[in-house]
Amino acid sequence: MKPFIYLDNAATTKTAKEVVDAMLPYFTEQFGNPSSIYSIGAAAKEAVSGARQTIARSLGAKDNEIYFTAGGSEADNWALKATAEAYAAKGRHIITSAIEHHAVLHTCQYLEKNGYEVTYVGVDENGILKVDELEAAIREDTILISVMFANNEIGTIQPIERIGEIAKEHGILFHTDAVQAYGQLPIDVDRYHIDMLSASGHKLNGPKGIGFIYIRKGVKIRSLIHGGGQERARRAGTENVPGIVGLGVAAARAVERMEEKAAKETKLRDYLIGRIEEEVPYCRLNGDRQRRLPNNVNFSFRFVEGESLLIMLDMEGICASSGSACTSGSLDPSHVLLAIGLPHEIAHGSLRLTLGEDTTREELDTVVEAVKKIVERLRAMSPLYEDFVRNGKARSQI
Ligand SMILES: *Cc1c(COP(=O)(O)O)cnc(C)c1O
Repeated sequence: MKPFIYLDNAATTKTAKEVVDAMLPYFTEQFGNPSSIYSIGAAAKEAVSGARQTIARSLGAKDNEIYFTAGGSEADNWALKATAEAYAAKGRHIITSAIEHHAVLHTCQYLEKNGYEVTYVGVDENGILKVDELEAAIREDTILISVMFANNEIGTIQPIERIGEIAKEHGILFHTDAVQAYGQLPIDVDRYHIDMLSASGHKLNGPKGIGFIYIRKGVKIRSLIHGGGQERARRAGTENVPGIVGLGVAAARAVERMEEKAAKETKLRDYLIGRIEEEVPYCRLNGDRQRRLPNNVNFSFRFVEGESLLIMLDMEGICASSGSACTSGSLDPSHVLLAIGLPHEIAHGSLRLTLGEDTTREELDTVVEAVKKIVERLRAMSPLYEDFVRNGKARSQI
């Protein structure tokens, strides 16, 4: 394969070698079913318990508060649908944010079609939740607040502790989609008053198709899958043992390296932001400068189409992502970029670069040069840019 620079770690990460190595025996010699009583079954069961314990400890939770799922989307669906069902007698109102991942937003839309009411609280121009609006939205029949820990597009870290306090004061359950935050930021479910939390293996150098949900003891929650007694009968089905083992190792590894990795990535992130701001005219950094995931960079470039930028970066061997949803067949730009107030045409010219544990400064230098060249080339083809230059508009920021 041609060498490439991978800057799309918010989409997925490379599975770490230690993770793969730890998983392999559970496909071969240790293939037993954790529910069986003979020894290879018992070995598998022990491996699952070990992973559960590692994850529980990483959050300050108890082992029996962790349920394995097939990823972040499933955990989000479970949190919302099961709470809606279990607490329907108390009320049918849910509060979430306008910038959630589709796993939360589309589940909310599903619930709205089924007799629930959802309030989508807005964010400020940096993507921070308007906590006053959240408080004002609380009603007698509010059963759940679901706000993501950190945003997958613009990296904004939400005031989770404050939101947790508000939920607790009002006796409302609090769920957080921590898929981007888990493994990158320290999380303690008690400190933040979190009742439910979703996470996913493949965002932290673990395998795809495995994740977990933390559900605080005492939360009434319905079974997601009916069948056998696995996951305390809440999610039946033979466990994905290799996946769970891989997730456990990925979690342990992420916790161990968190501080060092965050420091390294923050430095590289700010270096990349600084160079783009200085060297590419008419750009805008999206998301908060400080309250931001260590690995997230998101820019809008005026007079540039995000899709074209991505294709041209790909030709240079650079993997990135855009805030435009054109790929999914829709012409709507990202709901997150619209929620922070970007006009459609600017939201369309967005680029997300998310760093990973192997990212180097040299790679970022190559990327900056490529972005400069490509943005210039795309602008040269843009009639809007031509007009803009002809009219001699001031070199304004967006
Ligand atoms: C990736 C992601 C998800 C979905 O996780 P999967 O494991 O891919 O289902 C949910 N929420 C956020 C914030 C994500 O970044």
